[in-house]
Amino acid sequence: MQQIIRKAGPNKKLLLHVCCAPCATTALERLSEDFELVIDFYNPNIYSRDEYEKRGNELKKLVEQLGLKAQVIIEDYDHSEFLDYVSGFEGEPEGGLRCALCYNQRLKRAKERAEELGCDYYATTLTLSPLKNSQMINILGRDGKALYLPTDFKKRDGFLRSTELSKKYNLYRQDYCGCEFSRR
Ligand code: SF4
Repeated sequence: MQQIIRKAGPNKKLLLHVCCAPCATTALERLSEDFELVIDFYNPNIYSRDEYEKRGNELKKLVEQLGLKAQVIIEDYDHSEFLDYVSGFEGEPEGGLRCALCYNQRLKRAKERAEELGCDYYATTLTLSPLKNSQMINILGRDGKALYLPTDFKKRDGFLRSTELSKKYNLYRQDYCGCEFSRR
């Protein structure tokens, strides 16, 4: 990631797909100095609408508290998009095929948004969680007009840093990944 950032040079625009505010803390700290950021909250996997709104509002609160000038997009919520996408894989364990589909759906949209908004790069906060396979996520990220920036935000104590920053900014930290299957 650092090598790509060094090569990218100044004034580049990056769309950051964010899954939730706590996972965004480390990513924003590491990327905000090098990129003009567009922050995109697209997570149709989240059950329920109240939870979706709660996580989206936490993200807006975080960006405000950090004093970032970034554009924040909270996408419309439609949980059926996710249920259709993972249909037949509901019973998979966390980290299995259902999750691969879930990552893929969100990355695909992030890429489309990045291209639509004229971003040079896009990346995702999904690689922060120790429960998520960053290699798999980075393989699913596809280069298009906007280039995918491979990351592993959990590295260099990134997860620990996110817990510190979440505490500092008094962020809501959910106790399940997102979908009803993970809640169970
Ligand atoms: S457990 Fe998390 S990553 Fe897996 S499908 Fe559910 S919301 Fe998506």
